[in-house]
Amino acid sequence: MAERLYNVVGGERMRSETDRWLPVTAPATGEIIAEVPMSTGSELSRVVAAAADAARGWGATPLKDRVQVMFRLKHLAEARLDHLAAVISRENGKTPEESRASVLRAVECMEYAASLPQLAPGDVLEVSRGVECKTRRFPLGVVAGITPFNFPLMVPLWMIPIAVSLGNAFILKPSEQTPMSALELAQLLDEAGLPRGVFSVVHGDGEIVEALCDAPGIQAIGFVGSTRVARLVHRRGTAAGKRVRALGGAKNHLIVVPDADPEMTAANVVASVSGCAGQRCMAASVLLAVGDVGLIVDRIVEKMAQLRAGRDLGAIISERAYARIIGYLDRAAHGGAVLRLDGRALVAADAPAGGCYLGPCVIDNASPEHEASSEEIFGPTLTIIRCQTLEDALRIENAIPYGNAAAVYTSSGRVAEVFCERAHAGMIGVNVGVPVPREPFPFGGWNASAFGEGDITGRSAVDFWSRTKKITTKWSAERQSNWMS
Ligand code: NAD
Repeated sequence: MAERLYNVVGGERMRSETDRWLPVTAPATGEIIAEVPMSTGSELSRVVAAAADAARGWGATPLKDRVQVMFRLKHLAEARLDHLAAVISRENGKTPEESRASVLRAVECMEYAASLPQLAPGDVLEVSRGVECKTRRFPLGVVAGITPFNFPLMVPLWMIPIAVSLGNAFILKPSEQTPMSALELAQLLDEAGLPRGVFSVVHGDGEIVEALCDAPGIQAIGFVGSTRVARLVHRRGTAAGKRVRALGGAKNHLIVVPDADPEMTAANVVASVSGCAGQRCMAASVLLAVGDVGLIVDRIVEKMAQLRAGRDLGAIISERAYARIIGYLDRAAHGGAVLRLDGRALVAADAPAGGCYLGPCVIDNASPEHEASSEEIFGPTLTIIRCQTLEDALRIENAIPYGNAAAVYTSSGRVAEVFCERAHAGMIGVNVGVPVPREPFPFGGWNASAFGEGDITGRSAVDFWSRTKKITTKWSAERQSNWMS
């Protein structure tokens, strides 16, 4: 019988009282590796109460002491890199290299948080003789993070290091499809010396997410997932008086112009489409081929055809997700488009039989109105739209509702400048197909890819997970007074 996963409440492993358990399936093999509880509302109330208890002492601990946990966490994560990567690969289906890279990226977020005493010490100024204004940063109390399946360790760690270092108690609701990395994280934080109850894990699906949005004791929610759910969580959480920062889905457009370096462009576009089997919000999804770039496009397709799922690409998360992606391939030949590369034929001969494997796919000659040009497919698929001018390409990119990332391939500074100015996305690449901003630069998209103010990492995350007091003091013995004192 598969292992039954536990919640983490007040620093203790708690068996859920629910009678609703879902299987956790290893995408690479199809094997059921665990059962995850759909926790109840009363369990959530107990988690929130325990977190509120822990938040009092933790919030009163000096920042310089709190961030020591992040130094220790970084060392522990680095020392257990292979183990953590193995857990991620098992529950998510990523290749070992991809899982390792995601842990190392998460380590950068710990490093950023460890630097918070240097980055966010607060301001002080003498505003008139003997009168001083200063800002002091305070925690919000109990906060929560709700995360998707595609980066089960890294996405929670976009939020936890900053939120916890700022003195909050953090409740994580991981994806029910990949709930195991969250428990590894609880173990690491415990070993790193985080006081018990400051970090909790509550498992569940949409029902517990709605309860988190409504829970009166939770002050703020960070969400990462699809646009449909991001919008819902943002609406429901803010209606309950919470701060909500919700990142949603994506449809990233890459523009290739004739002066692009052919070999570099081809390698880079292919890596962007196929990395994490296309299941990342920064993946290339649409290629806008401007003018005479036929040879570059041919090279991209040729390189994609050499890849094999189960060897170069990891697995698709579930049979349901696989069926959804295949639906787009089956409907590809619409309005003149052609299915130029069918990833169903690009699976390694030795890929495990029970796994969900799909090689790279190309839908060529699509119109901007084609469903594969405008909807998030979330698989290793590239839709190619041929356009005459950069202006046409920008018009198509600007018209999509999403705004996570966009990139241009060119050797012209002028083209790059126009693109950076006019693309409608929060994260822009110039000759970079996965333009993830690295610390200290913040991560976050625009439009239907993000709801609420600011970004999920970096400086605006520091503001999101804390509040300031503006303190005005006068200790001068002078009796002189002015309009303010
Ligand atoms: P998802 O929206 O289905 O799930 C995300 C979280 O929401 C999970 O914890 C899930 O339990 C919960 N959830 C699911 N349905 C719900 C509902 N009806 N009500 C309330 N909560 C619900 O996303 P996913 O499939 O796990 O992840 C893939 C999506 O995440 C893609 O759209 C991808 O683009 C997006 N994503 C975005 C970013 C970003 O930075 N913008 C990063 C990673 C993933």
